[in-house]
Amino acid sequence: MTALELINPATGERVGEVEAASVELVDAAIARASAALPAWRAVSPADRSRLLRRFADAVDGAREELALLEVRNSGHTIGNARWEAGNVRDVLHYYAAAPERLFGRQIPVPGGLNVTFQEPLGVVGVIVPWNFPMPVAAWGFAPALAAGNTVVLKPAELTPLTALRLAELAREAGIPEDVLQVVPGRGDVAGWRFVTHPDVRKVVFTGSPAVGRKIMAGCAEQVKRVTLELGGKSANVVFADADIEQAAATAPYGVFDNAGQDCCARSRILVQENVFDRFMELLEPAVRGVVVGDPLDEKTEMGPLISAAHRERVASYVPDGAPVAFRGSAPDGPGFWFPPTVLSPVAPTDRVVVEEVFGPVVVVLPFRDEEDAVRLANAGDLGLSGSIWTRDVGRALRVSRAVEAGNLSVNSHSSVRYWTPFGGFKQSGLGRELGPDALDAFTEVKNVFIAH
Ligand code: NAD
Repeated sequence: MTALELINPATGERVGEVEAASVELVDAAIARASAALPAWRAVSPADRSRLLRRFADAVDGAREELALLEVRNSGHTIGNARWEAGNVRDVLHYYAAAPERLFGRQIPVPGGLNVTFQEPLGVVGVIVPWNFPMPVAAWGFAPALAAGNTVVLKPAELTPLTALRLAELAREAGIPEDVLQVVPGRGDVAGWRFVTHPDVRKVVFTGSPAVGRKIMAGCAEQVKRVTLELGGKSANVVFADADIEQAAATAPYGVFDNAGQDCCARSRILVQENVFDRFMELLEPAVRGVVVGDPLDEKTEMGPLISAAHRERVASYVPDGAPVAFRGSAPDGPGFWFPPTVLSPVAPTDRVVVEEVFGPVVVVLPFRDEEDAVRLANAGDLGLSGSIWTRDVGRALRVSRAVEAGNLSVNSHSSVRYWTPFGGFKQSGLGRELGPDALDAFTEVKNVFIAH
């Protein structure tokens, strides 16, 4: 049995270790999840709803504890970590309403009665990345459990602690044993077993496009259902007719939140050329004003990167001689700090413009007109989210329809709201999480015809 070593990203100090699950251990968890399935799917809809509400209440009661755990294990700011624990509670409450509303349809046919049922899939394997350990876990397990599936969840190697605690809270709330299990472990060992094990009927994967492709190919062997939430290189498009002050003041938070380790980060700011200089003048103090430091300080807006290795990767996008327009601050000393960094001028083909950095690095490019803005926004293989700043309602609608991305916001940077569907166009993913659509991803439609 090997161990996963856990480090506090803000201090570099060891937080502890957890055992990494072997294939045998994952197989045992999957066997228990299969055994728990018949009883869980037979729980009456009202009781399943009640149990999920109790689970939500337990998460609410442990919100501060979960938040502090995330600060220590992942370096998230305390404000973000509290929001994340609250998001788990809200997502559970939202899907607690689902068991009582999983309607089928009655379809008129000759000779009898035709009805459809939304059947659970079986055991669902959820694979979670390190950047949002709590919310991403809940976006998988909450609708999966609501629809009558059992869940085996593998957190990221670096950040297993909150997932382990959430599974304990589920049990304390009365969710039956083995209905939600967490198996920390390596991706290529424990995570991959979800792909190859025939009793896992669906894999929900959030992570990098490279691993996502492998998962999809692996799942094809068994025609296994798969939902993929992969990377992004989202555009923040600022038109000259927008509230430029507001667009510039909020742009740093659209990309530097969670130190840029956010798949929805607006890491390409596209600004109409006739307001470009004015926008940059306004952006500079906004970037310098981002409060970077101790994640436990309530005023902190940005914490460290997740690991030394990741900081090295991020730094490779800002080599000596990179066109740094201006930067914010970051603490010296231990911890994996990297300052908010703005690069301009850059060419549309530069590596930092094309690839997902997953750190606090943003590029700013000018565009001529609406057509040019849409062309730049749609460059590349990714299409997860984006923002459009304009006061012209017609333009807001035209550009929203033209940008190939799953989650757009006009005059704001909101991406993830649990009431609405979330997911990517192009290579940013496959399928949708959250909102009413997620239940379709965790059920199979069964059609039954009863002859008169
Ligand atoms: P990653 O792909 O390296 O790892 C993600 C998860 O997959 C981890 O739990 C890891 O252990 C597991 N894994 C790795 N190799 C595996 C394999 N061969 N088989 C099965 N599981 C395997 O990604 P990461 O570095 O942890 O996360 C960063 C990436 O995640 C970024 O690209 C980011 O954009 C993306 N992301 C996307 C979303 C979204 O919703 N679209 C959300 C968060 C993060």
